Amino acid sequence: MTDCLFCKIVAGDVPATIVRESDRAVAFRDINPQAPTHVLVIPRDHHPTAAELAAADPELLAAVLVEAHRVAEDEGIAGTGYRIVFNTGEQAGQTVFHVHAHVLGGRGLNWPPG
Ligand code: AMP
Ligand code: ZN
Repeated sequence: MTDCLFCKIVAGDVPATIVRESDRAVAFRDINPQAPTHVLVIPRDHHPTAAELAAADPELLAAVLVEAHRVAEDEGIAGTGYRIVFNTGEQAGQTVFHVHAHVLGGRGLNWPPG
C-alpha cells in the first residue's frame, strides 16, 4: 500500500528505530511512547486490523505475537509483565490502519485502560 505509513517503515522509506526484524514482522519504537517500553510490532504485509489479519493469515498473526514476546524479553520486561494492545477501529483510538501490536511495559499499567 503506497499510502500507508507503516508500509513505508517496512520499505525503509520512513525512518524508525527498529528493535527487531524477522522475515514476516518488524518491531520499532513508538514515536510517542506511553511507557518506558513502547514498541510496535507489525507484519510486513499490509492488513488493516487484527481481525482482518486473523481472518486472512492466522499464522502471520501468531508470528506477530511471537515477536511481541521477544521484544519483551529483549527489553527485560517479560518476567515483570507487559501488555499487548491491538486498538481496533476509531473509537478504540486506532489511527494507523496497518495492524500493529503495541507492546507496553516497564511500569505498572492501570486496568481497565482508559
Ligand atoms: P494506534 O493509535 O493504535 O493506531 O497507534 C498508532 C501508533 O503509531 C501511535 O502510538 C503513534 O504514536 C505511533 N506512530 C505514528 N507515527 C509513527 C512513526 N513514524 N514512528 C513510530 N511510531 C509512530
Ligand atoms: Zn500498510
